[in-house]
Amino acid sequence: MGKVIVLGSINIDTVIRAPRYPRLGETLMANSVRTMPGGKGANQAVAAHRAGAETLLLSCVGSDAQGAFYRKHLQASGLSTEFVRTTSGPTGSATIVVEDSGNNAILFDPGANAAVGEPEIEVILEHAQPGDVLTIVLEIQDQVALRALAAAQERGVTTLLNPSPWTQAAQSLADSADIVIVNEQESARLNRVDERVCITFGAQGALWRGIHAPARRIEAVDTTGAGDTFAGTLAAAVARGLSTEEALQAATEAATDICERDGAQDWQTLSN
Ligand code: ATP
Repeated sequence: MGKVIVLGSINIDTVIRAPRYPRLGETLMANSVRTMPGGKGANQAVAAHRAGAETLLLSCVGSDAQGAFYRKHLQASGLSTEFVRTTSGPTGSATIVVEDSGNNAILFDPGANAAVGEPEIEVILEHAQPGDVLTIVLEIQDQVALRALAAAQERGVTTLLNPSPWTQAAQSLADSADIVIVNEQESARLNRVDERVCITFGAQGALWRGIHAPARRIEAVDTTGAGDTFAGTLAAAVARGLSTEEALQAATEAATDICERDGAQDWQTLSN
């Protein structure tokens, strides 16, 4: 069984619940504001670990209180922080507005994620082996993502790309990754959709290699992190050698479960 190596972001999410998004210039009363662990890399790593894979998270936190909190949170979640570096400056952050409908919109500040780079590539070159899965998300610098993909391919590792948020390098990364997970909007940006591409359709589940996995019908509370949970769980399933159908089913179930709760992970709130 291979391990999952996640190269990506760590963010503190501030989740603002409101009846709807405010219009430009408008002041709108929020229902609640909460601060909790997020970041696409960490979300995926927590999901992969939950799905039973040995998981290495390669990322950075800042030298602030949020960084120290996050390190403890990862350890409490059972993840190793051996490859999470602390850099000077703030931890990455995302401000997420969740409408009553469950839809969300996000403003992202990379903070320490901008420092993810050569030391993380070195870890890939040193620790990645054939049978492992490297997942890459794009809340880090494009050139680092490109370099990591090449390093993983050098090591014979399966590469899984979640080109989110969409950046200049997204298409070129998608052209060479072994597996590409996109939501419906992202799939429309791809030059080609072939067997490597797995598309998620929110409440309608996901489609990969001609197999459709429906999602359980739920009352969505917060869909933040649904795509990350899907990708991390799918990566773990591929590392464990599960079939396409089993992998899709596991990923869809885990992602749907996370939509029934607040936050992008199994979180502990910093403030309520
Ligand atoms: P996000 O950006 O919110 O993290 P995404 O846009 O990357 O998500 P989606 O296609 O919205 O990805 O959702 C990924 C998976 O999460 C779906 O395949 C499904 O399993 C689950 N999911 C998302 N929304 C719902 C929902 N309303 N009901 C049931 N399952 C859902």
